[in-house]
Amino acid sequence: MTSRLRIAVQSKGRLAEGGMDLLKRCGLRFAYGRDKLHQRAENMPVDLMLVRDDDIPNFVGSGACDYGIVGENVLAEEQASSARARELEIALRLGFAGCTLKLAAPQDGDIRSVEHLAGKAIATSYPGLTARFLKDRGIEAEIVEMRGSVEVAPRLRIADAICDLVSSGATLQANGLKAFETVLRSEAVLIRRRSGRESDSDAIANILMRRAEGVIASAQTKYIMLNAPTDRLDAIRALLPGADAPTIAKVAGREDVVAVHAVCRERVFWETLEALEKEGARAILVLPIEKMLA
Ligand code: ATP
Ligand code: ZN
Repeated sequence: MTSRLRIAVQSKGRLAEGGMDLLKRCGLRFAYGRDKLHQRAENMPVDLMLVRDDDIPNFVGSGACDYGIVGENVLAEEQASSARARELEIALRLGFAGCTLKLAAPQDGDIRSVEHLAGKAIATSYPGLTARFLKDRGIEAEIVEMRGSVEVAPRLRIADAICDLVSSGATLQANGLKAFETVLRSEAVLIRRRSGRESDSDAIANILMRRAEGVIASAQTKYIMLNAPTDRLDAIRALLPGADAPTIAKVAGREDVVAVHAVCRERVFWETLEALEKEGARAILVLPIEKMLA
């Protein structure tokens, strides 16, 4: 009997939906509702453990789970403070839940750079990463550890500055704070133990990883179809973002126009479509790609 692959996923929060969505796109089907601690895939030997994101490095480090989906920030913080977490590695970057760990201070204050932090107090839920960053810069400052609502610390005079996760920056602005330095860029990552012993579930893990790579690549990849004036073909090809050699096909009954089909491996913005149109491209279609094996 082959053993089942165990994956730790956040039970609720910013990583939960993206994580489940990715696993489903990799072909896993689950029987139970979302509120169980444990979910069993119906169609593959895979079990999910639904836990708090902060516990995921431990679940994987201890061997209770083989893989985990967690924010890189959580992994990096664990690694900055625990020896066992250094045994963990990133197996795959997952391309969602992007955010940045930033240093920020009151907009109207005089802290505007890392050097200004010397002798100050910094509130954060990431004491390990913050301490390492300051040490690397040779700055001595006090770190005030907080579990949440870090952004209110300067107003309450608990700290002079903060080191916190930022995605849009709206929370900082709402609290009269301004970021002045990036400590870490983060996204959701798939983690595992570094020197994992060979196990029966390796084969299924490899299949899922390959599928996940395809799902992630196809999320950013689009299929573009358009009609191009034959004499503008080179200019139009040059505008296609991240395209391999496109397919050029005849358009029935037209000598002056050809059809161009291309897979674009970068995001396709409205500006690109407008530029294509300006070069004479017509009937421009951008289609999502659902699955892809490159
Ligand atoms: P849990 O109850 O599981 O501990 P949590 O409150 O720690 O939940 P979330 O707020 O759901 O977790 O955040 C999970 C992860 O989402 C973060 O660790 C980070 O990687 C990512 N993330 C993306 N954008 C943001 C953001 N603006 N603020 C906080 N986390 C973000
Ligand atoms: Zn958490």
